[in-house]
Amino acid sequence: MIDTSELVRKLRASGVTRIALQFPEGLKRNAVNVASVLSDAGFFVVISGDPCYGACDLATGLLEMVELVVHFGHSPLDDTPCIMYDPYRMDFDTEVLGLAIPHLVSKDIGLVTTVQHTHMIPAITEYLVSKGITCHSVEGGARAPNPGQVLGCSYGAARKCNKKEILFVGTGQFHPLGVQLATGARVIALDPYCRTVEVVNADRFLRRRFALIEVAKRSGNFGIILTLKSGQQRRELAERLAMMRKDAFIVAVHEVSPDELLNLGFSCYVNTACPRLAYDDQDRFSVPVISPQEFEIVCGSRTFEDYQIDEII
Ligand code: SF4
Repeated sequence: MIDTSELVRKLRASGVTRIALQFPEGLKRNAVNVASVLSDAGFFVVISGDPCYGACDLATGLLEMVELVVHFGHSPLDDTPCIMYDPYRMDFDTEVLGLAIPHLVSKDIGLVTTVQHTHMIPAITEYLVSKGITCHSVEGGARAPNPGQVLGCSYGAARKCNKKEILFVGTGQFHPLGVQLATGARVIALDPYCRTVEVVNADRFLRRRFALIEVAKRSGNFGIILTLKSGQQRRELAERLAMMRKDAFIVAVHEVSPDELLNLGFSCYVNTACPRLAYDDQDRFSVPVISPQEFEIVCGSRTFEDYQIDEII
């Protein structure tokens, strides 16, 4: 829930009068309401209408017309000035954790979640301890600064807790899959809203990626996607990959769209932008879009046995 009274208080305290609002796709429906409240409170408000999937994609271009951008739904990735973050917290009843307990085999586990729920970690820990289960949540690194926080491009908190079994609490299938691939641990995924529990199995994902790599090996040329979004840009990586083959060229883009890639005509693309693009969005593309590590397999400098999920470190 967005606490607009608190937001007005913080904005007044900051002394700004002209602000922009940036929402990720899932929260955009709040834009009109939040803008109305702030406008009534005397602020000049602009809403960013561009797609946004993370704090890696800040609407800094709007700072030409406003003094501050309020970015909802994510925690900071870096210290970009003139950005105020409102991470959007979502609560749930910790009793739902009881559903996961029968699936745990260890009494000493790692605990990870996404930014919406990191404030619940102390309550989750307390509940599990009351059931005789010790859990560990550690900071993963600068991209995911809250203890226990994982991102679709950063699983440091899962790796660093160094446990053979990890409980992921949150929604969606991608994060727990990433936790499993990044750590090799047994991963239990609890969705506290759908009240479902799953022991994560990456086999199907790996089979699909293997098939895609085989298609990529037959490609005649490779476009190395380099995004111009600062929080996703990996120039050194893109340049290193482009040097691995004569038929590989860097393609610089802001927004990666299937139509644009189709027009460029490469028979395979290597994604150095948001890692989820290659994994989640493959169905949108007519040619393989593979990760940097998968490209290394195509080039023979890595084996499939050494498969790694892509992360932005
Ligand atoms: S790079 Fe992708 S996964 Fe990482 S913060 Fe940005 S949108 Fe999220």
